[in-house]
Amino acid sequence: MSPVEVSVVIPVYNEEDGLQALFDRLYPALDGLGNSYEVIFINDGSTDRSAALLAAQFHKRPDVTRVVLFNGNFGQHMAILAGFEHTRGRIVITLDADLQNPPEEIPRLVEAMRAGHDYVGTIRRQRNDTAFRRYASRAMNRLRERITKIRMTDQGCMLRAYDRNVIDTINACREVNTFIPALAYTFASNPIEIEVGHEQRHAGESKYSLYQLIRLNFDLVTGFSIVPLQWFSAIGTILSLFSGVLVVVLLVRRFLFGSEVQGVFTLFAMNFFLIGILLFGLGLLGEYVGRIYQEVRDRPRYRIKAVLEADPARAASAPAQVER
Ligand code: UDP
Ligand code: MG
Repeated sequence: MSPVEVSVVIPVYNEEDGLQALFDRLYPALDGLGNSYEVIFINDGSTDRSAALLAAQFHKRPDVTRVVLFNGNFGQHMAILAGFEHTRGRIVITLDADLQNPPEEIPRLVEAMRAGHDYVGTIRRQRNDTAFRRYASRAMNRLRERITKIRMTDQGCMLRAYDRNVIDTINACREVNTFIPALAYTFASNPIEIEVGHEQRHAGESKYSLYQLIRLNFDLVTGFSIVPLQWFSAIGTILSLFSGVLVVVLLVRRFLFGSEVQGVFTLFAMNFFLIGILLFGLGLLGEYVGRIYQEVRDRPRYRIKAVLEADPARAASAPAQVER
């Protein structure tokens, strides 16, 4: 294996309109680094021309390009994990394909890694997303900070750098639903955050629906902490204490005033509220049980159709393979 200094991992899902612009900015930025580098694209089952464009780019720069082709859509984080398994660099950088993360920032991340950090997180100087996304993301950030021990100022930005050791540890994990920046954070010993630019999506539109964003945040919270379960049992304890007091009060009133029938609607309201809490708790429990179920089923996390790479020794040993 040839030693490579910097590996760049980019997940691609239906990005045909933006890929050329990405190539045009990414490669010059990396050429200017003055270090050996490799770019690993993962086609996450795109249904447009993305795979063909990636293959064309591979033939143009086979020395520094590798393309992992999934045979279906397994999600951004699975794509990045597959990319990690194909990296060789001492420093690994992740980047979005839609040019929201300017490739020109890569040298600054490399510089921070050189300064001795093993994880470089990023804060978007000025975030170019919808107001709803910005607001929801800030609220989730705060909730996550309380629930997990992970301190990330800006969880959403995927332009990040990881040390080889952190990557090797991530490669040893077999999690099904995960959030890579948080996973890496738990393994890093000397993390740092730097400010980076953030641009508007170059072309196409966001691949995340509201539902998927909610799912991702559940992964972030339930995947890294059991505090929600503990909160829930705390709420349950407090509620039973209150109901205990209520029973006593009602009993006393029964003797003082006889039977009372007023306040049925209050009773309804309280009932609905409690049922709401119960269902929420059941759902929360389900989140964890579902996770356990997915882990114990132990199915392959993704399937690789083919890997385009120049190194014949590696290429020969990597036909359609199943990773788990
Ligand atoms: N992506 C992916 N698989 C998916 C969804 C997204 O590989 O199922 C890639 C996408 O091509 C992009 C990155 O993940 O490179 C971030 O996606 P997007 O820009 O849609 O997310 P947003 O910036 O809106 O959070
Ligand atoms: Mg984006």
